[in-house]
Amino acid sequence: MQAKDSRYRFLLENSNIRGVVVYLNETWREVLGRADYPAGVRDILGHAMVAMPLLASTVKFGGRMTLQAKGSGPVTLLVVQATAEGTQRGMAHWSADTPLAPLACVLGDATLSIQIETGKRGEIYQGVVNAHGEQLQDALAHYFENSEQLQTRLWLMCDDQQAAGILLQALPDADPNSDDWDRAVHLVDTVAAAELFETPAETLLRRLFHEDQTRLFDAEALRFECGCSRERTAALIQGLGRAEADSILVEQGSIEITCEFCNSRNVFDGVDVEAIFRDGSAPGSQMLH
Ligand SMILES: [Zn+2]
Repeated sequence: MQAKDSRYRFLLENSNIRGVVVYLNETWREVLGRADYPAGVRDILGHAMVAMPLLASTVKFGGRMTLQAKGSGPVTLLVVQATAEGTQRGMAHWSADTPLAPLACVLGDATLSIQIETGKRGEIYQGVVNAHGEQLQDALAHYFENSEQLQTRLWLMCDDQQAAGILLQALPDADPNSDDWDRAVHLVDTVAAAELFETPAETLLRRLFHEDQTRLFDAEALRFECGCSRERTAALIQGLGRAEADSILVEQGSIEITCEFCNSRNVFDGVDVEAIFRDGSAPGSQMLH
């Protein structure tokens, strides 16, 4: 088993192919611990959790990257976010028993969007993916081939303890020849989930690509972090508007908001709400876990 949640980039130097391997253990278990996900929901959430750090390593990206799927279900909402600092969070809503595949049966009539904050003064790039293909990895590969014009393949795997994945992509401005590409894809196709979960990146690459000149870069740490705060929750209440906030106060005595990513609960009473609309902050209460 991998000790740490991490990402490794590598190069197949003679083939113009770059790759990424991601292992998530703690991070994935943190996400799984927040809700009782049925197997089909768990699988697509795990696949999305692995896809984010794989994809984030191939695009220019300074702030946050979000993958969101909104559809008619059985999985009605899927949101996974990763930051340039290597933190991640994710959650899903579901309405019924979820099949494991194909993607269209998991998400229904869905739009999959990828939002990338470039880090330059609020600049956001947004792309939309069709929920086509057998699994999320097929839809994402297709999307990246279209948007970046780079041959891309992803392998996303998870169970109830671990999640891991591999990405292969043609180097920009240097197309691999199709024999090299097909051979690399074929080799990664042979990797089973259990093997990937248990094999360190260095061993895995040596095993798969022993005929190639392989360069493996240092590990980058990944971890779960929600990033929500009482201040951001207060901003949500501000977004509701004074009238709506007051009517919830009259009805319920306080406004209680639970973060769906980390289950932190924030309670705002009348005094807090008054302060939010007076000066945009709510002093005097603490965040509950
Ligand atoms: Zn949170």
